[in-house]
Amino acid sequence: MKDYKIDLHIHTNVNPHAFSTLEENISAASKKGMEIIAITNHGPALQDTPHWWHLVNIAILPDVIDGVRVIKGVEANILNEFGKIDINQRVYDHIELVLAGFHVVDEYGNIDSIEKNTLAILNLIKKQKADIIVHLGNPIFPVDYEKIVKAAKENNVALEVNNTSLGTITRVGSRNNCKAMLEFAKKEGCKISLGTDAHYSGHIGEFQRAIQLLEEVDYPENLIINSSIETFEEFLKLRQELRSKKVDS
Ligand SMILES: [Zn+2]
Ligand SMILES: [Zn+2]
Repeated sequence: MKDYKIDLHIHTNVNPHAFSTLEENISAASKKGMEIIAITNHGPALQDTPHWWHLVNIAILPDVIDGVRVIKGVEANILNEFGKIDINQRVYDHIELVLAGFHVVDEYGNIDSIEKNTLAILNLIKKQKADIIVHLGNPIFPVDYEKIVKAAKENNVALEVNNTSLGTITRVGSRNNCKAMLEFAKKEGCKISLGTDAHYSGHIGEFQRAIQLLEEVDYPENLIINSSIETFEEFLKLRQELRSKKVDS
């Protein structure tokens, strides 16, 4: 089983349902020999968001801390079928990596509509507002994987395999959906991102369930953006060129 040293989805305890500080997370990542970690706290539509100043001010952090490259990111919430996300232009301008996904938020109703959910993701992808679409396996937000995979491939957006979704506590029932997504993604040659969605420092870099699934579908290593520093940097550079400049357009 490959040991991935890049984790692109991590929360700190400014989201109160996460338990480790930024420094605890970085120290744990450093001890584990992680090369790159992305700090991706929740956007304002969720109750546990930090003040948006925190999301902007992450930009003051050095690029490398304790030998670990720290990517300043956010996990945005999808607000409607037009692909609107919940971060403002200031945050959008200052962060390096935009994750976006469905969470149960007041602004997004009819969550079980496959048509609405698929349209929301397709618009988000086509408008180039997010670099990685996260935890699409969540069975409470059904989507059309074939359409999403095709759009993601065409627009160079990565789809996430979220290690936490494959466990027994959060987004239970995601595994078969993730497998279906990966089968379409393999056929299309779509980029995949691995995220632990760690809410505790000890979980950083723990990708076992995700890797097992990738091995089951024999997913090509060169399409996994976490596979090497060079692969990730190439993805990030391309995304920064492609990403829309205006979050509200
Ligand atoms: Zn999430
Ligand atoms: Zn998350």
